[in-house]
Amino acid sequence: MFNSPFMMDLIIFIFGLAIGSFLNVCIYRIPKGESIISPPSRCPKCKREIKFYDNIPIISFILLRGRCRYCGATISWQYPIVEFITGIFAVTLLEFYGITLSFFIYFFFICALIVVSCIDLRERIIPDIISLPGIAIGFFASFFLPSINYLDSIIGIVAGGGILLLVGAGYQLIMKTEGMGGGDIKLLAMMGAFLGWKAVIFILLVSSFLGAIIGSILALIKREGRKYEIPYGPFLSIAAILYIYFGRAIIYWYLGLIFHGRI
Ligand SMILES: [Zn+2]
Repeated sequence: MFNSPFMMDLIIFIFGLAIGSFLNVCIYRIPKGESIISPPSRCPKCKREIKFYDNIPIISFILLRGRCRYCGATISWQYPIVEFITGIFAVTLLEFYGITLSFFIYFFFICALIVVSCIDLRERIIPDIISLPGIAIGFFASFFLPSINYLDSIIGIVAGGGILLLVGAGYQLIMKTEGMGGGDIKLLAMMGAFLGWKAVIFILLVSSFLGAIIGSILALIKREGRKYEIPYGPFLSIAAILYIYFGRAIIYWYLGLIFHGRI
């Protein structure tokens, strides 16, 4: 049964959905400083415990039409969306890496980024409780990843932490307000730990590009004179995930353009 690629994909997708369900608990509880293990999930409105059959990823959301069984309170779309994308990342990483240590390390890393991005979107903070241990775990993981070595990881941590610290200090000097949060700096250091210093450059370029595009679109929609504050963590995370899947291909393509004199 496990020899069939489809069965394997299906099993890994369901595994991803289940992990996604746990990530939702983390997203909801970590900013409040609550335990992510107990108590069992409750409806945030009526406080009744959610039964296991109402807690099946995606399916329960559809069957309950996005409402609590008891009080009818709406359940956030965040739940099925996080479950689904976690499942998709699990399957696509499997296609890229097979069942290898790289698969588990990158899946763990992407899960951390999903939690960080959702918390940053909801609360405008990046919790140290994820990014700081993440730096240490990323460094440890670099000994097991074939794509980088521990020196790449150390330089990545210093570059990730240092570049944003400099940019942040410069921005603060010129604009007299804090531009880049300390949370973003620690997050980029964690990304440097997992992906190495080349990734830090890639992530900075791609995330600022994405941030500029989305920021301009939001500014147009909102039609407000003042600057619209968007959290930067999700853009860093999207760029880091792009690097995991396509980083090498994009860098080689870009170097190829330079080599052939087209840039
Ligand atoms: Zn309820």
